[in-house]
Amino acid sequence: MAALPQQPTILSFEDARHVVERHATEVGPGQVETEQLLASTGRVLAKPIVADRDFPPFRRAMRDGYAVRARDLTQLPANLEVIAEIKAGATPEDLPAEVRPGQAAAIMTGAPTPDGADAVVMVEYTSLSRSRVTITRAVESGDNVASIGSEGRQGDVLLSAGARIDYTAIAAAAAVGQNSLSVFRRPEVAILSTGDEVVEVSERPGPYQIRNSNSYSLAAQVKEAGGEPRMLGIARDESQHLRRLVQQGLEHDLLLLAGGVSMGKYDLVEQVLAELSAEFFFTGAQIQPGRPIVFGRAREKYFFGLPGNPVSTMVTFELFARPMLEALSGLTPRKLTFLCARLKSEIKTKTGLRRFLPGLLSGEFERAEVELARWHGSGDVASTARANCYIVIPPDRERIAAGEWVAVMRR
Ligand code: AMP
Ligand code: MG
Repeated sequence: MAALPQQPTILSFEDARHVVERHATEVGPGQVETEQLLASTGRVLAKPIVADRDFPPFRRAMRDGYAVRARDLTQLPANLEVIAEIKAGATPEDLPAEVRPGQAAAIMTGAPTPDGADAVVMVEYTSLSRSRVTITRAVESGDNVASIGSEGRQGDVLLSAGARIDYTAIAAAAAVGQNSLSVFRRPEVAILSTGDEVVEVSERPGPYQIRNSNSYSLAAQVKEAGGEPRMLGIARDESQHLRRLVQQGLEHDLLLLAGGVSMGKYDLVEQVLAELSAEFFFTGAQIQPGRPIVFGRAREKYFFGLPGNPVSTMVTFELFARPMLEALSGLTPRKLTFLCARLKSEIKTKTGLRRFLPGLLSGEFERAEVELARWHGSGDVASTARANCYIVIPPDRERIAAGEWVAVMRR
């Protein structure tokens, strides 16, 4: 029998996460492809979005009101002659040659500010009588006028490659006239479940068998994180079968295994990977659920051995596999951040592990509240599905009182 991984290395959560983050800087995205503007939502930008002209391209009024010379308003109320009305979409011919001292032009949001005027007074501070306007509030030069190029000069990078294309990126692309975007190809992520007791969803399970939920939850997480899942099915708890599928998995960009990494006699994942000369960066993290998580590299591909209990599989994907997948997608790396919420009822636990326990986030606006979901351990998919977050409990806390702030990982 071949050797087991060099030395079992069990890291703190933070150290384990940093190890993954460091390795994630070693990988890059695949090829670049072109996608229609809207279809690129959720993908990763491969080429920057560049301003095709100055933004804004003209001195854009930011409010409905009157374009004025700010200096005309040093004495209030001021009474000015209204010489024009300028609508959004006005043509150059619609504009007065100049707004001269003592004059103003009625102007609408989005319209070009005429020469001579250097500010817009909001209509709320004015009253119009025939062709004269009385203004009761002063402005400073530049107020309510977006100057040419203030948001970006022609040729400026508005958004760099490596950004996730969300609705704000879509807006930036649309604003510069890009009907399509260059995006990175989605990384292919092989998903392999293990276990003699595990049967496919479509099969009728025997009395001591359970259905394969892990391959599907992982595939959904992979998709959500921007990857392309490749389902390798279920490996039996038998070295040869497992090895064949692991080898197949290592042909993809990333390999996720679920199950078979605990201390049981038939937990063969590490052994099989060691036989394939894998390097192991860690073989456990001080977390619950998910303590036996394994991270390594074989045949120049990274793999994660995720513990098979369904909630462990889900949580360890989020904590460790996601940043690697994001790096393979070309996404600029980002740190893991948690929200804070007030604990609704006391939590008692044991020290030693950082815990990510299914929770129910509620409350409203600035008053986020959270409580533990009632669950029956890391096999309990149903309560986790009814929860909406994970409460993060530091390893040194035995008791957290109601009303204390706790960290929350959103789902
Ligand atoms: P393991 O990590 O292989 O020791 O499995 C831990 C627990 O998770 C056992 O109760 C398994 O039956 C269960 N399990 C393993 N793989 C799956 C899977 N693909 N779908 C659902 N449950 C699983
Ligand atoms: Mg197993």
